[in-house]
Amino acid sequence: MQKYKTKKRFGQHFLHDHHVIQKLIYEINPLPSDLMVEIGPGLGALTFPILDKLDKLHVVEIDRDVIKRLEQKNHPKLSIHSVDALDYDFSTLTKTTEDDKPLRVVGNLPYNISTPLIFHLLEPLSNTNKQQSSVKDMHFMLQNEVVERITAKPGNKSFGRLSVMVQYYCETEYLFFVGPESFDPPPKVDSAILRLTPWKERPYKATDDKQLSTLVAQAFSMRRKTLRNNLKKTISAEQIESLGIDPSHRAETLSVEDFVKLSNLVSNLST
Ligand code: SAH
Repeated sequence: MQKYKTKKRFGQHFLHDHHVIQKLIYEINPLPSDLMVEIGPGLGALTFPILDKLDKLHVVEIDRDVIKRLEQKNHPKLSIHSVDALDYDFSTLTKTTEDDKPLRVVGNLPYNISTPLIFHLLEPLSNTNKQQSSVKDMHFMLQNEVVERITAKPGNKSFGRLSVMVQYYCETEYLFFVGPESFDPPPKVDSAILRLTPWKERPYKATDDKQLSTLVAQAFSMRRKTLRNNLKKTISAEQIESLGIDPSHRAETLSVEDFVKLSNLVSNLST
């Protein structure tokens, strides 16, 4: 087959480091009956080693040239969905199984869509009627800096809006670093593997998830300003203090629990 020419616009950097692939599969630990979907299979660097361990694998891919190549393999266990992952309703995969199996998601994602895609996958969780997630876990290869931000703890300079919102829905783990030389063509940035495990039971529950998201955005709107300043249109310094939170601190020093407390106070005020 003709050598494939990678496309920049689809963020194509194909993994070719056998050691990294094996390490990632070890971390994912696919079990034969798992319900699993891979986002952006490309030429199958992860797809085929994962398929060896599963009864069936779904893949979601946008590039028709890539899809053609995957189809030519005619792999009996591979189910190909030719769509943009950002538009794809992942719950259709869980709905079609008789036993309501939770979904496992993996992907070496194009870096430009990684944050919107994570929020797309987390969105069903923000439905207040639904506490239990239909996603069991997610393993993503992302830009190292993004994995650092998602997994950052309060007080760390990377801790921000992305950390709070993802950690509100999921347990987050930085698994391991991957250098540019592991890809073809090599990207300009370092990469890392992230594991997200949606909480079975959320440690802190906001009365209104949308309110939480708005408040977190406000609190971080000007990073160098204090909470009192960033939140002044929403709540007073006294109200912040009433929760045992210092209004002269910056948002980056607060825990996820603090943000949930603040958000619930605002929800109470408006009822
Ligand atoms: N998993 C492969 C390929 C990674 S490159 C490997 O590790 O080698 C990223 C892949 O995501 C490419 O196949 C690209 O075509 C695909 N992709 C890019 N944007 C996408 C989108 N919006 N939806 C689904 N797939 C997408």
